[in-house]
Amino acid sequence: DYSLKVADPELHALIEKEKQRQFNCLELIASENFTSRAVMEASGSCLTNKYSEGLPGKRYYGGNEYIDQVETLCQQRALEAFHLDKHKWGVNVQPLSGSPANFEVYTALLSPHDRIMGLDLPHGGHLSHGFMTPKRRVSGTSIFFESMPYRLDESTGFVDYDMLEKTALLFRPKLIIAGASAYPRDFDYPRMRKIADAVGAFLMMDMAHISGLVAAEVAADPFEYCDVVTTTTHKSLRGPRGGMIFYKKDPVLGVDLESAISNAVFPGLQVISNCKTLATGLVELGYKLVSGGTDNHLVLVDLRPQGIDGARVEKILDISSITLNKNSVPGDKSALVPGGIRIGTPAMTTRGLKEKDFEAVADFIHEGVQIALKAKACVKGTKLKDFMDYVESPDFSLKESVSE
Ligand code: PLP
Repeated sequence: DYSLKVADPELHALIEKEKQRQFNCLELIASENFTSRAVMEASGSCLTNKYSEGLPGKRYYGGNEYIDQVETLCQQRALEAFHLDKHKWGVNVQPLSGSPANFEVYTALLSPHDRIMGLDLPHGGHLSHGFMTPKRRVSGTSIFFESMPYRLDESTGFVDYDMLEKTALLFRPKLIIAGASAYPRDFDYPRMRKIADAVGAFLMMDMAHISGLVAAEVAADPFEYCDVVTTTTHKSLRGPRGGMIFYKKDPVLGVDLESAISNAVFPGLQVISNCKTLATGLVELGYKLVSGGTDNHLVLVDLRPQGIDGARVEKILDISSITLNKNSVPGDKSALVPGGIRIGTPAMTTRGLKEKDFEAVADFIHEGVQIALKAKACVKGTKLKDFMDYVESPDFSLKESVSE
């Protein structure tokens, strides 16, 4: 049996390059993190060889004695991590990732063409929450279910709960989804519970982005108000790539969530204080943040007042070994050249950065924006491609742009 290096040197070399890239860059993608060596070891273990369909003690395959213990241990730890009473909450730890976990919940609770309401993608929601445009049903969620996304109040950058309530009373969804990929504030769960109850809907929270903060009790607790809570395990939770579904043990709206879902399928405080420092630094440098600040692990910067967009700034920062992503901000017209960037603090907090370091990060990003503006002024055409071609050509030098 050969090591990867011997068995497949080509793949091994690419993995080594990716490792170097991860070590050498400032990782500010809000959905990413650096997991521990122990997690890597468990992920790359013999467990990958085993089929284990079914649940502990009720499998369709033999040889699951130890897998049953692993899964039971995982369930116990998941409930403990979120301080849940095992008599009131159950958890399914089998989803491969966040999107499958969400789809498994929809499969469990809904019939085809039932109505759902999630946060609109251009306003921070996730594709799996029912995104659609007037012309196209973009994801499986909007193809198989009828979706009416709710949105932010564009003047405040906070979820427009009044409008959500009004729309829900007319649209009568069967499921309301809280949670987001690019929303820097907590959700108002009591308000959403009230709206769900008024229309007889299930309330689900997709806490993928903030699950580490929920576990550390530095974000509002969705379990107090929601019927189902989904999460990924590899974002702020810092685990391996995977997903989980938590469900109330008592029936909700006449549905036994446990059997429906089974059949369908930490770094805490420091992350937030680093993020608040980053937000303050950016505001002091003159940047406009969506909602004016942050309660969690990410900030959403509206770059339009600077006269630049997220795609160009992402590119310049990428060349500078700073990874973050372009992101739509309320009022944006294009998803490919959106007006903002999303910056997250979990990964670099894992690498040991503190508040003082994030003051420097704000300065780095500011410098990147200045370089992007200068580069934009040097490009003749107005298309994004013209800009990309220019910054990749020998005419552009990052070094010179920095020292100027
Ligand atoms: N839910 C939210 C809120 C997300 O932001 C994401 C991904 O970023 C997902 C679900 C999907 O997770 P995955 O990419 O693991 O399917």
